[in-house]
Amino acid sequence: MIHIPKLVFAGTTDAKVKDNDVKFGGLPVGLSIAKWPVCKECEVPMTFLFQMKHHRERLPLGKEGRVLYLFQCENEGGCSTWEADSGCNKALIQESGEWSNTSVTELPNDKTVMLPDLAVQSWETKEESEDEQHPAWTHLGGTPIWIQSSEDMGENYRFVVQLDYGFHVKATNLSELPIGETSGYEGKKSYQLKVGEDDFVWISEAGPNEYYCPFANFGDSGSGYVFVDTDKQRPAGKFIWQCY
Ligand SMILES: [Zn+2]
Repeated sequence: MIHIPKLVFAGTTDAKVKDNDVKFGGLPVGLSIAKWPVCKECEVPMTFLFQMKHHRERLPLGKEGRVLYLFQCENEGGCSTWEADSGCNKALIQESGEWSNTSVTELPNDKTVMLPDLAVQSWETKEESEDEQHPAWTHLGGTPIWIQSSEDMGENYRFVVQLDYGFHVKATNLSELPIGETSGYEGKKSYQLKVGEDDFVWISEAGPNEYYCPFANFGDSGSGYVFVDTDKQRPAGKFIWQCY
């Protein structure tokens, strides 16, 4: 089975009912600032992508209360974020006892990029099928949808999450969002969505009350893959991405 998150913009009415154990973009919760990973190549604190608490079906991390956090460098330096061991990305698993009640309220560095803050309103669970016209690139469980040839992280590591370079996000009332400029291109409207203090992304109409929202930099239309080793004492994660 695969589990597909139905995304909404954090802070909107759509996000009033949400899964509190998962979030995409914005700032991480439950992680102490001391653990915020720094890029080995450019030495700038990385960008937060995703976090989720252990869930028996959707994200088995081997122990109740464990949380998976995913970061990668989004600094303009073009660091080697696609490699598992370059030190330019980080998939870390925090034990339940390490949950920090002091939430991070701002980015650790002004060079650190923030991604759009997204919540999961609900989940769709279905059989994995190989011949779908529109496969669910972003999904938990099942198997990875590779763009290039398949990669293996070693026998202790199991695939758990695939994140695509952009998402379809529901927004019933766009006026609840910090929108700047609007533009029309080929009959499709795009909106400048403010992210963090002084950044923005362009979101574009993708259906009724639905917008395409760009997310992390995985090269040309790339996809990211998270693997975990759910060892009882020393859990660990690895992250890679591929693109066209
Ligand atoms: Zn870097």
